[in-house]
Amino acid sequence: MTPKKLAALLCLAFAMSAWCAAASAPVAPKIDFISVETARQAMLDETNSPFVSLMEEHEMAVFGLTMTGKPIEQQRAAFSKKLAASITPFSTKEKKMLADCIAKVSAWLDGKYPLLAKQPWKICKTKMKIPPHTRADCIVFPADMVAQYRDAISGGDGNRSLLPELLLARLLLHEQVHVVQRMVMSAKNWNALYAKWGFAPVKSIPLDDPWIKSHKLTNPDGPDVRWLWREDTGGGQQRIWWPLLVTKNSMGNSKGGSPLDYILLEVEETGGALVLKRDANGVPKFKTMRNNAAMRRLMPTFDTPPYHPHEAAADMIDELFFSEIHPPRKQSATQAAFRKQLAKDLEVYFQE
Ligand SMILES: [Zn+2]
Repeated sequence: MTPKKLAALLCLAFAMSAWCAAASAPVAPKIDFISVETARQAMLDETNSPFVSLMEEHEMAVFGLTMTGKPIEQQRAAFSKKLAASITPFSTKEKKMLADCIAKVSAWLDGKYPLLAKQPWKICKTKMKIPPHTRADCIVFPADMVAQYRDAISGGDGNRSLLPELLLARLLLHEQVHVVQRMVMSAKNWNALYAKWGFAPVKSIPLDDPWIKSHKLTNPDGPDVRWLWREDTGGGQQRIWWPLLVTKNSMGNSKGGSPLDYILLEVEETGGALVLKRDANGVPKFKTMRNNAAMRRLMPTFDTPPYHPHEAAADMIDELFFSEIHPPRKQSATQAAFRKQLAKDLEVYFQE
C-alpha cells in the first residue's frame, strides 16, 4: 500500500480528526514569473520601494554606472533605465527549479505561519551583478546566481543535489520575508520583535553628514536606516551604535567578492539630537559588525551581520527554516533556546 492510499484510508476512518487536517496536502503556492515588461516597469517605480532615488554616485558605480560630474538626478534616471534594461526572462528549466524550491518553503510555512504562506510569489531576473533583493512585491534574482544554482542543483547526468536546493529555498524565503515586511506587515508589528534584539527606531539621524553620504550603500530591502542598536556595557551604562551598510570601495577596501561591508557607527545624544562621535581628524568613529560578540549574544543565530532589523529578521527566519530541515551538527544551548523562542514569536507575528 502506498503511503498516499494509507493516508486516504486513515482520513476516511478519522474524517473529523485533526490528524487528517495535518495529513492533507498543502495548498500549492501561487508563483508568478512576471513578464519582462512588467518587471521593467517595477524597476522604474519608486512608489512602494524607494531605492534608486536614495542612491549617491559611488553607490551606482558599484553596479557599473559611472557618470562623474553629472547632476545626481540625471545619474539616478540613467541607473533606473539600466536596471530596467537588465531584466531578462527565466528559462523553463530555471522556472521549474525555482518552483520546486518554493514548494519546499511553502510546505514548511503551511499551517505554521499563514501570513507568510499565503503571500503570492513574484519573481524576475536581472543580468546586473547585484545581490538578490526585492522591489515592491517582487523578488529580483541576478542571472549569474540563478545559473550557479541551476548548475549545482541539476548536473549534466540529471542528479539532483539536495543541499543547493535547500540553500536556494532558504534564499527565496529570505526575500519573501522582505516582501511581507514591506507590503503586508505594519512597522509597529515588527518593532516589538526588533526591540528584543536591541534595535530601536529613531525619528532623525545624521543622514546628510558628508561622510555618511559618501560611504553608505542603499539597501532596497531596508531603505529606511533610522535605527539604533543599543549595547548594554554593564553598570547601567550603554553605548549607542548606528548600524550601516557601506560600500567597500568607499572604505578603501576592494578585497573579496562582495562590494559591501557592515559597520557600527558610534553616536551620542546631545541636546536631544543624535551626533556622530569623531576621532581627532573628524572621521566618524566606527567598528566592524562582523563577529560582534555583543550582537551575537542577543541574536545568536545570525549569519549575515544584522545591519538592519529587517535584514536581521529575514536572516534569522531563513536560518530557522534551514536548521529545521537540515539540523546543524552542533548547536549551543543558547542557539537552541533562541530558535525555539523565534519560532514561537513568528507564530504570533505571522498569524493572519
Ligand atoms: Zn535581505
